[in-house]
This record gives sequence, C-alpha cells and structure tokens, in this order.
Amino acid sequence: MNRQAKGKTPRRPPPKKTSNNQKDPVGVYCRVRPLGADDEECCIEVISNTTIQLHAPDGLKANRNGEFKETQYSFKKVFGIKTTQRELFEDVAKPLVEDLIHCKNGLLFTYGVTGSGKTHTMTGSPGQGGLLPRSLDMIFNSIGPYQAKRYVFKPDDKNGMEVQNQVDALLDRQKRDSQSTVPKTPTTRRIDPEFADMISPEDACRADGVDEDSSYSVFVSYIEIYNNYIYDLLEETPFDPIKPKPPQSKILREDQNHNMYVAGCTEVEVKSTEEAFEVFWRGQKKRRIANTQLNRESSRSHSVFIVKLAQAPLDADGDNVLQDKNQVNVSQLCLVDLAGSERTSRTRAEGNRLREAGNINQSLMTLRTCIEVLRENQMCGTNKMVPYRDSKVTHLFKNYFDGEGKVRMVVCVNPKADDYEETLLVMRFAEMTQEVEVARPVDRPICGFTAGRRQRNQAFKDELTRRLEERGGPVDGEFPTVLNQLLQSFPPLPPCEVSGPNDDVTLPRLIEALEKRHRIRQMMIAEYNKTANMLKSVLQEQDSNNLSKENFIHEQRGKLGEKDKMIQNQKNEIDRLEKKSKMLEYKIDILQKTTNIYEEDKRSLQHELESREQRLQREMSEKRRMESRMQGIVTDAKLKWEKECERRVNAKQLEMQNKLWVKDEKLKQLKAIVTEGKTENRQPQRPSREKDKVPPKRSASPSPVPSPYNGSQSSLSSLEPIYNFSQTVRPDPHFPRPGSVSVASCISEWEQGVPQSRRQGSQSPPDSRKRAQGLPDSLSRRRGRCWAREVPVQPADVDLEETDHWTGAPVRPLHRRSHSAGGERWVDHKPSSNVELDTVLQANIPKAIKVNAPNEKALSKCDKYLLTHQEVASDGEIQTKLIKGDVFKTRGGGQAVQFTDIETLKQENPVVASSRKRRSSESGPDGEPMEGDWTDVETRCSVALEMRAGSNLGPGYQHHGYSKRRKP
Ligand code: ADP
Ligand code: MG
Repeated sequence: MNRQAKGKTPRRPPPKKTSNNQKDPVGVYCRVRPLGADDEECCIEVISNTTIQLHAPDGLKANRNGEFKETQYSFKKVFGIKTTQRELFEDVAKPLVEDLIHCKNGLLFTYGVTGSGKTHTMTGSPGQGGLLPRSLDMIFNSIGPYQAKRYVFKPDDKNGMEVQNQVDALLDRQKRDSQSTVPKTPTTRRIDPEFADMISPEDACRADGVDEDSSYSVFVSYIEIYNNYIYDLLEETPFDPIKPKPPQSKILREDQNHNMYVAGCTEVEVKSTEEAFEVFWRGQKKRRIANTQLNRESSRSHSVFIVKLAQAPLDADGDNVLQDKNQVNVSQLCLVDLAGSERTSRTRAEGNRLREAGNINQSLMTLRTCIEVLRENQMCGTNKMVPYRDSKVTHLFKNYFDGEGKVRMVVCVNPKADDYEETLLVMRFAEMTQEVEVARPVDRPICGFTAGRRQRNQAFKDELTRRLEERGGPVDGEFPTVLNQLLQSFPPLPPCEVSGPNDDVTLPRLIEALEKRHRIRQMMIAEYNKTANMLKSVLQEQDSNNLSKENFIHEQRGKLGEKDKMIQNQKNEIDRLEKKSKMLEYKIDILQKTTNIYEEDKRSLQHELESREQRLQREMSEKRRMESRMQGIVTDAKLKWEKECERRVNAKQLEMQNKLWVKDEKLKQLKAIVTEGKTENRQPQRPSREKDKVPPKRSASPSPVPSPYNGSQSSLSSLEPIYNFSQTVRPDPHFPRPGSVSVASCISEWEQGVPQSRRQGSQSPPDSRKRAQGLPDSLSRRRGRCWAREVPVQPADVDLEETDHWTGAPVRPLHRRSHSAGGERWVDHKPSSNVELDTVLQANIPKAIKVNAPNEKALSKCDKYLLTHQEVASDGEIQTKLIKGDVFKTRGGGQAVQFTDIETLKQENPVVASSRKRRSSESGPDGEPMEGDWTDVETRCSVALEMRAGSNLGPGYQHHGYSKRRKP
C-alpha cells in the first residue's frame, strides 16, 4: 500500500484574505563592519543602538558647494563594529528560526554594497559562523530528536509535501544507501576546512516549545539568481571535465496556493547541521566554479538558501507520522545574500558584464520599486500593482509581502568614506523598507490527538525492551520472586527417592502429587485467563474511556485555544481602538484649541467690526452735520453774494448812468460851444430852457460835479480830474475861478442881473426880481444839482460856472436851528438802493425823519442831515458811511446841507478779507481800476442829492475835511 498524504504549505495565502489584519513592519537592522584599514576615512557614526549618522566626506562636501549634509538614520537595531556573529544571530535570526519551527515563514536578506559584509553576515567566515549556519544549527538542536525518518516526508514537484508510509520510506532509504557511497549519518564532523568551526558548541541554542508530538524533516535548496536567471546550485549533474555543461536555468512557478517556487529545484533532506552545511557548501563550491568558468562576479548574483521544515503530527500511538496530508505543515526560511547594491559605474564593468550588472541593478531596482509601491499602497490605502514580476528575486518573494510571514533585512555598511554616496542610497532604501508592513503569520491549528504521545510511546517501548531483556536475561539463575511465591502455593512434592525396583509406593505417590499439581495448575491457568480477560476488558474499557476523555480534553483545549486567540484578538482590537480613541481625543483637543482660537479671532473681529461700524456711523453723522453746515454756509454765502451782486449791479448801473450823464453833458457843452460861436451876439439861452432839453432820464442820472478849479480843462479829459483831484476845499464863492469860461460867466452875470445889455438880448428875459430873491424852479433845481456836484469832478462845465456863483455862500450861523428848541432833528436819509446788512452797529437817531431820498419838506423841518451811504471799499467789502451834515436855510428860501462828519461802519468777512485786501491795491484783471474807486463817498453824496434834481435845495452842500485818495 502506497498511501501518501500531501502536505499543505503554510505559505498558502488563505483563499479569502482571513481576518488576520495584524501586521508587522519589515524589521530592518543595520550592521556596520569595521574599517578595512585604520587610516581610512570614516563616514558613519553609530549614535545609539538604533541610530547612525552619516557624515559627508570632506571631498564630497567641497564638491557640493560646501553643502554640509549630516543625516541620521534609525533602524530597529544598529550593530556596531564590535558586534559578534552570535549577538547578531540572537537578535535577527533566532526569532525567525523559532517561527519556522512553529510553522511560520521567514525571509531574511542582507543588503548593501559589495564589501560591506553581506556574505560575512549571512554565511560568515571560519571561526565566525554567520546567520545561515547558526540558523541551521538551531533548527537541528531544536528538532533533532523529533525528526522523521528520511523519506517519510517527500516533496512533490509542485511545491507540496507528501507523507510516505514506513515501507516506501524504507525502500527509498535502501535505494539511497545502495546508490550513495556516503555513509547514512556522518558520525564524525567532516566539515570542509574552509567552513570549519563556524559555530562553537557553547553557542548552540534551541527553540522553546517544540511540539514533541510532531515529526519533522528539513529540506534545503540553494539557488543563485544571476542576470535574472535562476540556477539550482544543488542540482546533481554528471560532471564532464572535457566539455562542461553550462548550468540550466530554472523557472518560477506558482503552486495551487499561489505560492511561488522554483520549478524542478533540488530539495535535499538533511538530518543534521553538518549535513545541511555540507549541502550548502556543495552549492557554494558549485557557484564558485561556475563564476570562474563563466567569468562572473559573485558580488553580482543573489544567492538564496531555502530551508524548508516539514512537520506532521504523530499518529495516536505516537509511533509513526500521521498519514494525513492535511496535517502536514511546511514552513520555510529564506536566507538571501543579495548582490552588491552599488551602481554599475562603480564596477567599471564593460560589455556583457555591464549588461549583466545592469540586470543585477535592475533586479535591485525592482526590489526598491516593489517596496516603494507596497509602502504607498499600505500608507495611502491605494491599490497599485506591485511589479513583483519585473525581476526573479521579487517574484520569488512575492508571497512574503503579499501573504504572511516575517521579513527582516540586515543592511550592511562599510563606514569608509569612498562608499558614502552608495551608502546614502542604501540608507534611503532601508528607511523606506521599514515602513512596509507584512501580515503577521497566524498559528496553525493543532491536530486532535493527545499531547505527549511520543513520550508515552517511548516509555512503552522502553518498558518492553526492559522486559524482553529481563526475560532473556536470568536463564540459569533463580526464579523471580513472584514465580517462587506462586510455586510455593502448590502442594509440596512427596519424596521422590525410589528405594528399589520394587518400590511401588514412591512413584504412584509422586504421580498422584503431580496430577494434583497439574489440576491446580489447570485451575490456576483457567483462573488466570479468566482474570486476564477480565482485566483486559476492564483495561480496554478504561483505555477507551481515557481516550474519549483525552479527546474531549483536547477538543476543549482546542476550543480554549481558539477562545484565547479570540480574547487576544479582541484585546488587540481594544488596544487598537484605545489608541485610536486616544488619537481622536488628541485630535479633538487640537480641534477644540483651534476652534477656541478661531472663536477668539471671531470675537475680536466682531468687536473690531462693531467699533468700525460705530466709527462709520459717527463719521456719517459728522458728515451729515458738515453737509448741513456747509449747506448753511453755502446758502449764507449765496445770499450774501446775491446781495453783493445786487449791490454791485446797482453800483455799476449808477456808474453807467453817471457816464452817460457825463457824455450827455459833454455833448451839451460841445453843442453850447458850437452854438455860442454862432450866437455870440445873441442873448444867451435861458438855462431853464436848456434844462428842459435835458431828457427826463437825466434827472435820474447822477451828474458828476465839475471841479471849480479844473473847470478850464478840456471836456475831453473830463474823466481825468476825478482821479487827479487830491483835496476838497470848501468852495469859496468869492474866489475867482481861473477855469471859468466866458459862457458860464455870462450866464452868471445874466442871472445876477448884470450886465443888462446881455439880458436885453435874451429872447425871454427872466424876472430879475425873482431871480434876485429866489431861484426860478428850474434854476434852483439846477442849482441843487450843481451843489451836488460841489465835489469837483467835471471841469469846464458851463452850468457849473453858473452854479458856483449861486452856491457861493451858505449862511450857516443865520440858518442854524436852535438846539434848545426841541433838540436836534435829523433827516435820516437811507437810499433805497442800500443793501440791507445785518449790521449790529446801527445809527439810532431818535425822532429822525426817515427818507429814501432827501426832500425839501423833510429838510425844512430838520437841522441835521444823515446820509447812510454804502460803497465798496478798496478791499471789496461793503462799507457803510454815515455822512453827517448841518442843514442851513439858504437865502433863496431853500435848504442847504453842509457835511461835517463821516462815520464809517465796515463789515469784514474774515475769509474774503485777505483776498480782498490783496486785491484792493491792485487793478482789475484787465488793468481797469476797480469799480469802487470812483464810487467814493463824494460821488455818492452827490449822486444822492443829484437825484433830487427837481428840488428847491439851495446851494451850500459842502464836503468838509475829506481827503480823497489819489489814484495811481
Ligand atoms: P559583501 O558580501 O558585502 O561583498 P563580504 O562579506 O564579502 O562583503 O566582506 C568583505 C570583507 O570584509 C570580508 O573579508 C569579510 O571578512 C570582511 N568583513 C565584513 N564584515 C565584517 C565584520 N563585521 N567584521 C570583520 N570583518 C568583516
Ligand atoms: Mg558577498
């Protein structure tokens, strides 16, 4: 019968990714080897047992613009130059071996540039065994006594493991023995001298918790990946020294559990450290030979040593391996010595070698890429495809990263400065690798048999051997005591001595005794058999009872284990959740703080907003107030300016009328002159007639008063004297007027009644009497006008000459009203053209007769005259002058006013004042004198009175003590 059980590999990823969500990061260790020579520059400093610091070499610093780069790298552990191989093994590989024995997979690789100590770390040197020999040693130290017989476990060619029955295994063993010259088990340590003394006996260590009720077998394979080809280093090929066959490359396949394996790869079952070692060494030698033959560089290939541990539980007897393929577990530990990680340029490789080097680099590149993508997927939750298939190395180890297991990497570094740049890259890769997580392998379920089967079986076997030994032992000695006692319970034999040939007593007695004994014996045997059978049945019952109980206990244990696991898982979950909740609390805390800060900000901003709004409101109201104030000011100013304009228009009107009058007057004079020449011998025209010819308008227009002194001046320069007149002198009627023209004197004479001859010549001679005593209406009116012109403005006025005679002497003392008679009575003359100013200071005259224009009636009743005169002062402001005068009775029966005093009231706009002041001394923009210049008080007075042209005012209106400003 060839019953075979096919084992299932533990690497099999569960069909649906199981609930195993526990992950461990790839453990990355750093080993710093000692410098090759003491005088070499060192670029690595071990800072702590987890951190190293890289110092950029001086030359490099200079090359990089003095950029001083000091970087620290942290690892799970850093091993300094003094670290022994044993220490390294204890930390790095021992847990992996323990895992292997407990059915869990492991991957351990060394990474670094060539010469950094990868091989030294993995394989070791004589006297300093590396991780590989130590791992093998530990495995055999742990499972040594529990190993299955050779060929009980048999790998199939599809990465599975079969269990052979004892007979097939025995046959296979016999076949091997007959084929091989090698002794079955090496009795002495026949170790290659190159490989000798790797592990000293005191370094031996073993794993705890090895399942004694299982049977184990170790299989090793050794492959090399060179130039992305896989070579089996343990393949037995008939060696042809004449024409050596190049090694055949192997391919990678995926088994039914989606695990990658090297198809057709030799798996050698080894039973001891030494044997395993020997196999490894065989492969190593083959590798060297191939490298030499094919001119390859060993540093350019990856070597992978795979230790497979098959284990299956013993059967219920604890005698043989359970023939159940489902109970076979295979775990494996891959020990990888990667190719040097340096860049191609460093090796100065050429041609084929360069291409190969490129491929090597390519595979390491792929490894880096895979790690990167894995890391990204894990950290960012992405699902990018990891390019395992891009190189054989990564493809082979795909399951470790995809499935479950423990991955560890020893980063080897040579601290020499020459390696700095390469080392930097190595460090970066190492740091990144640490961030990748691999699913933690789960515990395998245990079979349902009683624990301690092996021991019980052993004990039974021992007892059997002992008994057998006992049975075959004391042949001629005494019976064992039990038998003796048994024999003693038989009836004693009668004396058997025969007395003679005729002794008939002894023999029959003996026969009888023997027969008796025989009967007893028969009885005893029957009894014994009965008892034995009974006992046997009891025992069997007990046994089955026991078994069922044991089974029950085992079941319970299994359940307990499951429960324990569940509890553990839940505990882990709780831990995780607690951590998460702590994290979240912390986050909440931070968020709260942030919120507080924002709220604070918000409050302050709101506050600011409010204050700004208030300010805005204040400013708005201020603005409104300002607006209303400005509006008030504007309306005020507008009103004022309107008034001012009105006033100025009036003034201008007056001026224009004045001018018109002057022109008229001149025209008249010219006419008179012209006509005088013609009618020299004729009687002069009555002035009254002349007056009649004056258009009615003229009575309204003020007539500038010609100066008695400048009377001789030409009429063409009539305007000139206005400005040239410097002072006003009280007109003296007796003072001869130098400028009197003949026409005027003629008229004067005529009016005074002398010479008679002239009067005769007139067409309608006036009544001399009337003339002597009083003035004819027309004339007196004319005189009034003339008086008004008392302030000399217009020279060479015929009328003036005439008038001057008349106005000659106001008789003051005679016509002065008595103050005692009811006090002074005033005529308060305010021309209607006056602008109403809000003057506070106002002339307040009690009992005054207020008039818009002076009239005879009012004057006759009063003895004081007050003219409120407005004019534009030199600074442009309206100036109010209160011109006071005394009223006299003229001889002709009329009234005359003699000005005696001027009071000036002046308002000033503080704003306009300054500009006005400036302007006052200047001429207008077109060089014309300002309009106010001629509207002086005299003129105005005269105007005021002139407007009364038709009144009976007598001569005598005079100005006193008033000096007129001379114009430039
Ligand atoms: P790699 O395999 O990385 O190219 P090796 O392991 O071959 O480097 O080491 C190169 C040399 O350095 C070897 O001679 C080795 O003995 C030595 N060496 C490496 N690491 C150490 C160490 N930790 N202690 C002593 N010697 C070492
Ligand atoms: Mg090496």
